[in-house]
Amino acid sequence: MCPGCPSVLAIDGVTAVQPGPPLVDLLADAQLAPQGPSAAEPQLPDDNPEEEPLYAARKKIYPQHVTGTFRRVKWTVLFVTLGIYYFLPFVRWDRGPNAPSQAVLIDIPGRRFYFFFIEIWPQEVYYLTGLLILAAMTLFLMNALAGRVWCGYLCPQTVWTDLFITIERWIEGDRREHLLRDRQPWTFERIARSASKHFWWLMIAWWTGGAWVLYFADAPTLVKNLATFQAPLVAYVFIGMLTFTTYALAGWMREQVCVYMCPWPRIQAALTDEYALNVTYRFDRGEPRASLKKAAALHEHGRPAGDCIDCLQCVHVCPTGVDIRGGPNLGCIQCGLCIDACDAVMAKIGRPTRLIAYDTDVNIKNRQEGKPAFYRLVRMRTVLYAVIIALVGGVMTYSLATRRVDGIDVIHDRNPLFVRLSDGALRNGYAIRILNKTLDAQSYALKVSGLADAEVQVIGSEGNSGGNPVIYVGPDQSREMRVLVTTHLKLEPGASVPLTFTVVPSKGGAAANAADHFLGP
Ligand code: SF4
Ligand code: SF4
Repeated sequence: MCPGCPSVLAIDGVTAVQPGPPLVDLLADAQLAPQGPSAAEPQLPDDNPEEEPLYAARKKIYPQHVTGTFRRVKWTVLFVTLGIYYFLPFVRWDRGPNAPSQAVLIDIPGRRFYFFFIEIWPQEVYYLTGLLILAAMTLFLMNALAGRVWCGYLCPQTVWTDLFITIERWIEGDRREHLLRDRQPWTFERIARSASKHFWWLMIAWWTGGAWVLYFADAPTLVKNLATFQAPLVAYVFIGMLTFTTYALAGWMREQVCVYMCPWPRIQAALTDEYALNVTYRFDRGEPRASLKKAAALHEHGRPAGDCIDCLQCVHVCPTGVDIRGGPNLGCIQCGLCIDACDAVMAKIGRPTRLIAYDTDVNIKNRQEGKPAFYRLVRMRTVLYAVIIALVGGVMTYSLATRRVDGIDVIHDRNPLFVRLSDGALRNGYAIRILNKTLDAQSYALKVSGLADAEVQVIGSEGNSGGNPVIYVGPDQSREMRVLVTTHLKLEPGASVPLTFTVVPSKGGAAANAADHFLGP
């Protein structure tokens, strides 16, 4: 993924194989290697690996507030995604008198999924498969274009952690203040602040769990029932579970979820290539790093100094505690906050911004060789992902646009496959299910074709029309019936005659068909 020798970095207790640039060599060249260990700096592995501890305690991260382009993007995404999540259940959608009016609803008792004008039945679970393929391909495409953009901006873990960190910062202060406060003894003020923080975290977590259950029932009614303790027990259980998981994951575990628990960083690392845009420290420009004073001294002696002044601002703002100057890192969620921090530093000292930037490994190499940078967004993999997205999206859109409002499923009896009647006739039994996806009740005439003299009997049908049994199906419902087909024809042993079951709606409209067989002796 990145040129340079592989090295092992340990960052805030996280050890990961890093195919990063030869940072230590660069530092050694400049005789500027920092003295003594630092929580924020990469550390070389011990010479004797046997003495390395297998467990490293977590070092708490105190991300510093930062402003800038990527922070603004993150705020926007946070407000939009959380706004959608919390308020979507209250959006209404008129589907007619016999259907729920909630725009997005997972109706488990009614076995329906409603999404605005789309209504999915259990028989149409293939739409879910299509959605999962679309989601996976979109994630792959995002990764091929701009690395872990999902992790940095859209992942629920990132969004809620960002919100929890913001609450913490309001109450406990920014990085420096919070660090100092955590070193002080537990005074009444400190306890009060901590209690207040956990109270607001729990409130957000509770609201998060509460919003989740609103997707499974009529939201205004459920809110009323929850408040008056008349909601089903399962609703309270799920709210409790989601309150706990949100509080634990976003309040306590934070970056550990991304670093240790989530499989996506590993998958993403295997899927990326050297043309993908990733948050990159342009070490070709930044190294050898030196403070302003040291840089001036180096220049005086005719020695080079890079643009990085080793201020560690990029590390202090990082929500996962990564020093991006050490090269690509599984702990980096690519949120771009270090870009904002470094840009502010560069602007202050009058140097060009984007010492840290979205860039590609290829461009770093090119710049080192004096070649111009270039970006190749159209590549085999991006084209492939885009084509799959277009194909699956197109098929799903066409299928939804031409979706039938009625249908029939047929299952032949498994045992017995046929029955010989006393008069010598043969009978086969079937279970049929007629689907009425309209919001009006419908009667359907059932026809069976394929056997010249077939006698069709439907147990429990509502009369007969033109010799065909009539079956009533309520609005937005399906009905299962038992059908017996009898023939006096002499069939060869082991015969299997194709049959077509057709239901014709009484109020007009296209007939629906299903195929099966009539089995001989
Ligand atoms: S913020 Fe920029 S200048 Fe400061 S340490 Fe990071 S990369 Fe170097
Ligand atoms: S290194 Fe930069 S981009 Fe990566 S997680 Fe930290 S702040 Fe975000």
